[in-house]
Amino acid sequence: MTQVRPRRSVISRWLEPPPHLACGDQRRHFVLATWMYVFGGGLLAFFIPFDLLYTGYVHHAAAQAVALAAITVAYVIYRRSGDARAISWVSSGTVGILIVFLIATGNPYDAVFAWAAFFPAIPFFMLGARWGLAAALTFVLGLGVALADMLARGVPGVTPVAIYNTLGATVGMTAILFYYEHGRATAQRTMEDAANTDFLTGLVNRRHFQTVFELEAERARRHHRPLTLLLVDLDHFKAINDTHGHDVGDQVLRHAAQRMVDGTRRQDVAGRIGGEEFALLLPETAEAQGAAVAEKLRRALAAQPVDGVRVTASIGVAEMRWGDDWTALFATADQRLYAAKAAGRNRVLGGAPARAAADAPAPQHPNVVDFSAAE
Ligand code: GH3
Ligand code: MG
Ligand code: MG
Repeated sequence: MTQVRPRRSVISRWLEPPPHLACGDQRRHFVLATWMYVFGGGLLAFFIPFDLLYTGYVHHAAAQAVALAAITVAYVIYRRSGDARAISWVSSGTVGILIVFLIATGNPYDAVFAWAAFFPAIPFFMLGARWGLAAALTFVLGLGVALADMLARGVPGVTPVAIYNTLGATVGMTAILFYYEHGRATAQRTMEDAANTDFLTGLVNRRHFQTVFELEAERARRHHRPLTLLLVDLDHFKAINDTHGHDVGDQVLRHAAQRMVDGTRRQDVAGRIGGEEFALLLPETAEAQGAAVAEKLRRALAAQPVDGVRVTASIGVAEMRWGDDWTALFATADQRLYAAKAAGRNRVLGGAPARAAADAPAPQHPNVVDFSAAE
């Protein structure tokens, strides 16, 4: 049976974020930027012929055409590159300068200053709370200077009360939007942290570890850099729980997690992916170096009893091969981890180094190398 897909219009496809902007905060930014572009660009596209044909303000039409061109170029760059900085700064800067220019050079009875109070939405949505506040206050300052100048020039319709109302509404909107955006960003960070973190150890949880893997794997493939996964399983952990109780078991888990954080670099990611199973993702690391990290960790664990309880771990090491996805790399590391268990625990096993494997007479299964120095 063939599946019938509803045909989607060009517009609905265009409003859909491109894949590199499709998740989390990037998606939110894309939707906001796109609707602002549609709304703002639409307004400008309307006012350019309006000013040319109806009001006769040619300089306003020209300024709006320049602004429309600038934000269009920035928006296209943003869609292609995914880099949000251009559209965020260009839209905030261009629209802010445009509004002040239209007010300063226009007729106050046209009430162009009504747009001033709308302006802060752009920098707060595009740049976030801190830079949004900086941009909005810069705008208020520029607007204040322009209005004070008009008052000094005696432009009809510009009164102290009109200035007070215009600036008051803009500052009020700035304060509200700052409060809103700051609270929203804080709440989002808190929720993301809670969703990504393992409560007991503070390491990232399995779900987030996999997300990090996808990002790092993509980067490693793009730049042809090595990436190595360690799977760490504590030995006879059930016995520790049974003999010393769950509290000591939990303490052992926290201790092991801390050793993983202490023994690795900043860009390495440690996760708790099961009850007493951990994973370490080592970017820019080939298998032999990864095995050295694992061996250091294994020794550190074995050398430091927790509450008098000796803790050891078995570790499987696997470097990502071309074309490996999470399932494939995990399976390789897991196979080596279980080979380490079978070989007597408290040891590190990885794959044969490529050259040795090529020299080997016949492929063996599982093809493993014991990295643990004899004790
Ligand atoms: P092996 O050497 O083969 O890995 O044996 P093991 O006993 O470590 O492995 P097994 O999978 O049989 O037992 C894992 C135990 O981990 C069982 C479970 O009760 C315990 N566990 C899982 N999560 C937690 C936790 O959050 N806290 C504590 N204290 N124990 C946990
Ligand atoms: Mg275990
Ligand atoms: Mg286990």
